[in-house]
Order: sequence, then C-alpha cells, then structure tokens
Amino acid sequence: MTARVGIPSSLLSFLYYPTWKTFFSELGAQVIPSGNTTREMLDLGVKEALADACVPIKLYFGHVQSLIGKVDYLFIPRVVCLNKETTYCPKFLGLPDMIRNSFKKIPPLIDIRLDVREGWNALLKAYQQAGLALGASRGTIALAYRKAMAVERRFFSLLQEGWQPLKAMEILNKAIRPQKPKGRLVLAVLGYPYLIYDRYISVDLLGRLKQMGVEVITMENLPPRVLYRQNDNLDKRPFWTLGDLVLRAAHYLLRHRRIDGIIHVTAFGCGPDSVVGKFLEMAAHECQAVPFMSLSIDEHSGEAGITTRLEAFVDMVCRRKEVYV
Ligand code: SF4
Repeated sequence: MTARVGIPSSLLSFLYYPTWKTFFSELGAQVIPSGNTTREMLDLGVKEALADACVPIKLYFGHVQSLIGKVDYLFIPRVVCLNKETTYCPKFLGLPDMIRNSFKKIPPLIDIRLDVREGWNALLKAYQQAGLALGASRGTIALAYRKAMAVERRFFSLLQEGWQPLKAMEILNKAIRPQKPKGRLVLAVLGYPYLIYDRYISVDLLGRLKQMGVEVITMENLPPRVLYRQNDNLDKRPFWTLGDLVLRAAHYLLRHRRIDGIIHVTAFGCGPDSVVGKFLEMAAHECQAVPFMSLSIDEHSGEAGITTRLEAFVDMVCRRKEVYV
C-alpha cells in the first residue's frame, strides 16, 4: 500500500513544500498537504497549543490536527540551521517534540533534523533517514533527493524573479510565465513567510495591496547572496535566521532599491520580533525617513481593522510621493 505522508501547509511549508513534495513523491509516497488555513484550523490550533505560543505555532497545531486520521505519517522536520550562521527560532527546534507531546493519538512522525553545520552532506543524511522510515532503498532515496534539490533551486529562482511563493508553486512546471503586474507604489512587506503568505491569517494582505495598485517586494524576492553581504552596522547579529533575514532585507532595500515604504508584519506573541521590529523601525527612520508601518497579526485579526490600516498607509504614502517627488 502506498504510504500517505501528511505535510502541514504552514510554517516553512511556504518555502519548502515543492522540495518535500518532490522528495516523498519520488519515493512513491502519496503526499497530502493540509491545505489552506481555515477558521476551524485556527480554532483547533488555539485549543491544542500552549496558551502563550505565538500565532503561527498555534496555527501549525491546527494544520496537524486536520491531518490526523487522514495520513500514515506526518512530516514534521526539526529545522535548525540552513546557512551555517544562524539558527531558526526555538519553536522550530522543538516543533516535533511539542507536536508529539500535545496530541494523544498521532501518526508516526518523520522528524528529521535539518542542520547544515553537521557536515557537507548533513541534509542528504537527514533525507536518507526520512526515506528509510518509509522503507525506500538508499539508491531511490539519493535519486529522490537530487530531484527535490533541483526543484528547490527552480522554485527559489522563481521567487528571486519576483514571484510570491503560492504563485511560484503554481507556475513551477509551466513553460510560459504570466506577466508580472507593475504598481503605482512599491512597498516592501517584510516578515515571516508563514504570516505574509498565509491568506487567512494575514487577511489576504498581499491580495489587498495588489487591489490597491501596490507592487510588493518581500525578502524571498531577494537573492540570499545579496542579503548575506549586507552590513547593517549591528554589533551583534540576531541569532534567529528569519529575523536576521528580515533585517538584512530591510537594509538592502533601504539602501539599494527604490521603495516607497515598509510594512513589517509581525506575529503577536513572537519573542524574536520584539527585537527585530525595533531595529527595523530605527533603520527605516534613519534611511531617508521611509514610511514604516508595523502590522501585528493575532488570532483575532479582523478584516476591517487590517484593511483600514492598509488603506490609510497606502493613502499616506501616495500623498507623500506626490508632495516630495
Ligand atoms: S520566529 Fe516568532 S512567529 Fe516565528 S515561530 Fe518563532 S516565535 Fe513564532
């Protein structure tokens, strides 16, 4: 029987789902994603997760719950370090343990540890463990890994062409790409991918900005080699990969690209964001006083509140542009 592997469509799935899907499909497994976030998932997550967890973690719990009973395995990787310099936030490091200890009945977890500091072939070794758990041979696993990495490179190059992840997943295997729309304003929307690209929890922030004629740049649209060259004069870098990237992206965009404003999307209950958000605000203020808005997302974020704030910000940026340009 074909093994059914469930992948929660949350957290790093927004960036690595094409990789993971390719890998498991090449091993002959049926990959089942939990799909778009719904109110029900959020409510389930709020019920299952620790009360003081951040919203994305609560949401992840909801996605996991929605897969229970439908899959034979759950793929919950422990993502530690993918760049040899910074680590993912502690919630990522403890994710499989939190899930295992929070649900009474749960399918076996495939909880490989992804940490490139463990040697040049650390990722291959980790994926080998995942493949062996499904009973695949080492040869099949090596081939599946190669294909998955090729898909990952193609996917990330689409992001760097300016596509957002969900659109990039849609056009990944298409020969002809649609035209990217230009906007009357260019805004950087910076924050964690699982907040910005989750249409439900972000109240379709990107869709709303598009409707307002705004062109959006996110940190995933910038090549990592450019981001890692950024010198932002900090005595000490943030420890956490995503927060560090948000800051680097802001510094790069403020210095080298013409942007009309920055929206920082932050999660209620996020420890790293309390530091990163402040640095971001200071950077925006120092560099030509670029308009800056911080949007905090929580499980109660309402459509009306977010839309009003977005409209007011876009309106203010437009007026400022008319006056100063
Ligand atoms: S970085 Fe913040 S929002 Fe993301 S998982 Fe960690 S605490 Fe939650």
